[in-house]
Amino acid sequence: MTAINTLPIFIGHNDTLLSLYLPERGEGRSFFTRSDTGHIDLPRAREGGMIGGIFAIFVPPDPLIQPMRRDDMIKTDTGYEVPLAPGIEQAYAQQVTMSMMASLSNIERESDGQVKVVRTVDDLTICLREDIFAAILHFEGAEAIDPGLDALEVFYQAGLRSLGIVWSRPNAFAHGVPFGFPRSPDTGPGLTAAGRELVRASNRMGIILDLSHLNEQGFWDVANLSDAPLVATHSNAHTLCPTTRNLTDKQLDAIKASKGIVGLNFAVTDLRSDGWNDADTPIEVMVRHIDYLVERLSIDCVGFGTDFDGATMPQEIGDVTGLPKLINALRESGYDDITLRKLSYENWVRVLSKTWK
Ligand SMILES: [Zn+2]
Repeated sequence: MTAINTLPIFIGHNDTLLSLYLPERGEGRSFFTRSDTGHIDLPRAREGGMIGGIFAIFVPPDPLIQPMRRDDMIKTDTGYEVPLAPGIEQAYAQQVTMSMMASLSNIERESDGQVKVVRTVDDLTICLREDIFAAILHFEGAEAIDPGLDALEVFYQAGLRSLGIVWSRPNAFAHGVPFGFPRSPDTGPGLTAAGRELVRASNRMGIILDLSHLNEQGFWDVANLSDAPLVATHSNAHTLCPTTRNLTDKQLDAIKASKGIVGLNFAVTDLRSDGWNDADTPIEVMVRHIDYLVERLSIDCVGFGTDFDGATMPQEIGDVTGLPKLINALRESGYDDITLRKLSYENWVRVLSKTWK
């Protein structure tokens, strides 16, 4: 089967900036040169039909304090548990965040007009019309922001338009979910007082609040406070894959009620019914997740999240050039072009436009 894609695709979450930032991940690759390393670069994005996405800044643990650990997973009889990662210092988080923001600015400048860091609905509209690659600046965890929120104002001015309150670790605002399978996302306390202020300020400024990696109590705190559509950029259905990172039916119902969006996470650990980190995961499993999310949320509240450059992808997808295979599989299972367009970019554009005002 050859992959034919005629649809533009927007993705809700990627860690490409981290892959470019960490030599041990990206091997020094450039965003502009086609590579076999990682999942996204501009030539591969164009080939896969990706028109843009939310670009995360994730601050890895400070190597001076806490070496990167990739093997802290504890196997259990039915799955695994990973101890909650410790928090990180604000000064260190700001320093790394600045470097990664600079690398995104450099990409925009060096792209000769091919890439734009999108800040407004107008920017996004122009990108879609003129086939300019749209990058939205996102923080995956608010560690670089002080509890007084001065840095939020400054980062907003510098282009921040989407914010994950936490990654899977605690910070001044909330508590992330530790990774675990099978396990409920209800793993700890909700937002702090500073976290509630962060939600109010983000609403006022028109910053997307990403609920992926937040624990369940934090999710409900945001759901009760926020006046924006609820967004989980890269999470799946807990009923099909009971990891802490996925959303229960009640959470999905709340996202639907807010006319928000869930971006399908392609991470195999969050797709597979056994929760295992095995790339040998058929596209059919992704289609079943989309079916479930669409059934629960409606066709208007589901998109693609991917987690490219941040997780193990199903082998058949491989990288961003594999997106047309998913589109084709969805088409073969009965989605027509009108519904596919909603999934591939229109729902994301609606939620971004509603939130940015
Ligand atoms: Zn993530």
